[in-house]
Amino acid sequence: MKKIKNIAVVLSTAISITLLGVSTSAYTWPTESTRITQYYSDRHQAIDIGPITPGVAGDDVYSFADGNVYKYSYDQSAGYVCRVNNPMGSYYVGAKYNHLTNPDTLTDIIDDGPVDEGDKIGEMNTTGNDSTGVHLHFEIRENDTPYTIGTDWYAGTAVDPLNYFPDMTSASRSSGGIYYDYDPNATENNLVEAVTITHGGREFDVRWIANMSDAELEHYNITNDVIEEAIAAISGNEDYAGYYDKLCDMIA
Ligand SMILES: [Zn+2]
Repeated sequence: MKKIKNIAVVLSTAISITLLGVSTSAYTWPTESTRITQYYSDRHQAIDIGPITPGVAGDDVYSFADGNVYKYSYDQSAGYVCRVNNPMGSYYVGAKYNHLTNPDTLTDIIDDGPVDEGDKIGEMNTTGNDSTGVHLHFEIRENDTPYTIGTDWYAGTAVDPLNYFPDMTSASRSSGGIYYDYDPNATENNLVEAVTITHGGREFDVRWIANMSDAELEHYNITNDVIEEAIAAISGNEDYAGYYDKLCDMIA
């Protein structure tokens, strides 16, 4: 099978290494975009990743590790779902990729067939009733037994997929009902409660606004008035000092 790697994350080594202060992951990030739109929490035991261009379907989705496709299926709420079992030595991982495009054209991806880390296993879309926009819902569940081919995809124990991507904990921020997030300045994964404001009938995480590109600011009609509202919402909040400065710079 053809191996397709995301150039930005061709950092795959046998182990996680730290070089010149840059931590790299042993695994392949599952899509080109690193815009995380929802983090892992008790209420959302997965991460969501937005597409390169908000609202536009079709970004490639890659298997984060070597494994075997357990099953491609259609689920009313999760849409087209690809489940992959990834052996990890003494344990194995069930990875789930939700809301994908109909996989009819992906003739290489067959139930029980092998996939290599970085292989394309689908395309990002917004299929299924649970999805409110184009994104990848990426879920990892750990099963505490070694993997043998033919083992079903068990539910296992959900873990934060970012555990497998130590270099991604300060990835760019986004929105869509985030309630908890990582503090990008922390050396550990400290959870910080999100502060949101409502604009145009939609809830925006203040950190997302602080990290928006010009195109995003325009797309969501984030005017200086809205930025001022965001600044007011986090004024005096120590967890948000960095974002406060960033937002002030945006309207300076
Ligand atoms: Zn999700």
